[in-house]
Amino acid sequence: MYAAFTTLSRIRQMRRCNSPPKNLFLQASPPAAALGLPIPMSSAQTTAILEPDIHRIGREILARARTARPAPFELGWWQDRGMAWANQHQHLREGLFRFISLLPKQRASADVARVLRENVTANGDDLPFPLALAVDFVDDHSLHARLVARAARFAAERMAHSFIVGSTPPEAVAAVTRMRRRNMCFTLDILGETVRTTEEAEHGELIHLEMISALAQAAKDWPQNDQTDVAPFGILPTVNVSVKLSALSPDFSHDIAELDLGEVYRRLAVICRAARKHGVAINIDLEHDSLRAATFDIFKRLLSEPDLRDWADAGIVIQAYLRESRRDLDDLLAFSRRRGVPLAIRLVKGAYWDYETNLAAKHGRPSPVWSQKWQSDANYEALSRVLIENCDQLRPAFGSHNVRSIAHAIAAADSRGLPPRTIELQALFGMGDPLKTALVKMQQRLRVYSPMGAWVPGVAYLVRRLLENTANESFLRQSFLENADEDQLLLRPEQSIAIRGAE
Ligand SMILES: Cc1cc2nc3c(=O)[nH]c(=O)nc-3n(C[C@H](O)[C@H](O)[C@H](O)COP(=O)(O)OP(=O)(O)OC[C@H]3O[C@@H](n4cnc5c(N)ncnc54)[C@H](O)[C@@H]3O)c2cc1C
Repeated sequence: MYAAFTTLSRIRQMRRCNSPPKNLFLQASPPAAALGLPIPMSSAQTTAILEPDIHRIGREILARARTARPAPFELGWWQDRGMAWANQHQHLREGLFRFISLLPKQRASADVARVLRENVTANGDDLPFPLALAVDFVDDHSLHARLVARAARFAAERMAHSFIVGSTPPEAVAAVTRMRRRNMCFTLDILGETVRTTEEAEHGELIHLEMISALAQAAKDWPQNDQTDVAPFGILPTVNVSVKLSALSPDFSHDIAELDLGEVYRRLAVICRAARKHGVAINIDLEHDSLRAATFDIFKRLLSEPDLRDWADAGIVIQAYLRESRRDLDDLLAFSRRRGVPLAIRLVKGAYWDYETNLAAKHGRPSPVWSQKWQSDANYEALSRVLIENCDQLRPAFGSHNVRSIAHAIAAADSRGLPPRTIELQALFGMGDPLKTALVKMQQRLRVYSPMGAWVPGVAYLVRRLLENTANESFLRQSFLENADEDQLLLRPEQSIAIRGAE
């Protein structure tokens, strides 16, 4: 009876997904027209129609989130203050982050003291007086230096752990179980990208398999939660795991042109087959631009294998900061149509902006990423609408802490007449917690990207989060640390440039 009900409701929802739009995307033109896709009106036309809803939804999210902010007796309050302070002292911020990224390689306290002195003491003019005094040592082997080094390592570890759900498999399982009780679902990420040796890659594969099996076992005791587990198009897997391909082969992070993709393909195939057997969903993360083509290629080849071509629980990422991202999305859409089974697509802006920009400048070639923040924001909105228009073939998920981007996705889905929770919202563990609370209260399906493992192999992830939290352009920073004006936060990307001026 229940299965019949689910099938019936699935058919109804699919029809709604395919139904003519209320008021958007009326014209068709290449290249999407060649694929049979609806084409959005110009960005200005479309968002003008959606604008009142975006502002209404955005204001509600901000109001709810601002009342859920941590109090001064909570760790989160102090972390926010620390981030705000780091923002105001750019040299020190860079030195601190360099110190953290070098920390895992230092074994002895004297080495930690040296790295601290070279990167933090050298910029110590900005430190508050007691801290400046603490790091003011000359001999790295002195008792003073070694004690300070230990304290610094401890502080860095504490900070790292605020972005990690657990160091061990049992800790991670307990953490995601608690998360589910708070009406949030998760995607587990196992820290340890960019492996250097075959042994590390082997370990990467094994730990993914171990976590898939441990979570699938734990999931048997989880009661179904309608807010997180039931979408209009069907019941979702309760366990979702994100995979970075650079964790599966030492070759994958090197010169991609020379690459033998065999190892990463073999390991990913083993992981996906185990996931399918256990009813677990897999999402492939996107990393640097140099790995993008190979990542899409492996993903599509694997999902074309005879035993995986009808698997509906696989997904991948699109990075809106890439100029090529619309082409990537059209290509995935065409692949999904050929395959005849929906793909989950997580739309993000992209976590490697500084890296891509600096690399392109170093080699004197055009950058693959947009140069101005509003361009990434505007592209994110345009791609959001393409995803929503094609929700019969793509399962849209929006990974962002930007209230304007989130409100735009919700408003676009509503205007299309989609039932609640056709789209999924995603956020990172340890970031934007008040925002998560607000979205859950608004009955959205919220998936939390939940890294697990030791912080040492996860240091690259940690530094990306710190950079993101403290970047000048960061929405989280402006909205929650600096309390920027609501109307300004919710401006259309194209308008925000008019107010702030061209960067
Ligand atoms: C659940 C989840 C999963 C994720 N998975 C991935 C992943 O697989 N791969 C990945 O790369 N990232 C991933 N991310 C990280 C994501 O890319 C960053 O969190 C995101 O870019 C921050 O965007 P925002 O909308 O939250 O914030 P905003 O503050 O609105 O946007 C910040 C982003 O804008 C872009 N930007 C900043 N300055 C400029 C500029 N001058 N010109 C152009 N663009 C600029 C950058 O992408 C920057 O990260 C994930 C995030 C989430 C929430």
